Amino acid sequence: MPSNYVALLAQTVPYYQRLSDPEKSRFAAKVKEFLETINIEGIRTTVEPLDSVLIAAAAVMPSFGFPNWKYFNLTNIILYPGAFDEEYRLDGDRRPIAGMVGSGALNGQMLLSRPAVRAGFFDGHGKHNTALHEFVHLLDKADGIVDGVPEKFLRHTQTEEWERIVQHEIHRIEQGDSDINPYGAMNHGEFLAVSAEYFFQQPERMKEEHPDLYRMLSLIFNQQLA
Ligand SMILES: [Zn+2]
Repeated sequence: MPSNYVALLAQTVPYYQRLSDPEKSRFAAKVKEFLETINIEGIRTTVEPLDSVLIAAAAVMPSFGFPNWKYFNLTNIILYPGAFDEEYRLDGDRRPIAGMVGSGALNGQMLLSRPAVRAGFFDGHGKHNTALHEFVHLLDKADGIVDGVPEKFLRHTQTEEWERIVQHEIHRIEQGDSDINPYGAMNHGEFLAVSAEYFFQQPERMKEEHPDLYRMLSLIFNQQLA
């Protein structure tokens, strides 16, 4: 538990910087609680205080609208010094991966690449935040499956509207008529995670470019950011 975690949040997490003072205190308490319950270990690298604080911030951001939220389906985070491949090798020649939620033997684990974690906070104009993306998959998984429909956070009547908006937005990506990361067109689970990255990184821009999507994500995460 880094003793300077509040100072690190203030220096490096734009989301935290925008909160009111009471909300800052609540956010910092959630970060502390996360770091006291989840183990972060480095593979061929040492986990620095900044890594711990950024990962915890990425965990708290999408769950901040749910005061009693706990990542019950997570025990361990494994931090890599760079991108890894499907067999968790750093020097493999397969598709490089920046983050993933483990399944099977890796159930309860999350794998993250340090450069991707840091880029999510230091690229002020980007729409990417890899660590946050993976935590959104865990929120999605809270109802049992990663299917892009977070049933715990949407009323039944809103689910149909959400699916309609997702289909429309995926269609726009496929037509080349969208500024959403095309990876989101892969399936509905990836669409939720990718659009959540955009929502948390550039809320004003999303509200402008995708008002319906912005409105639904505000409902899902129970947060008004723009
Ligand atoms: Zn994903």
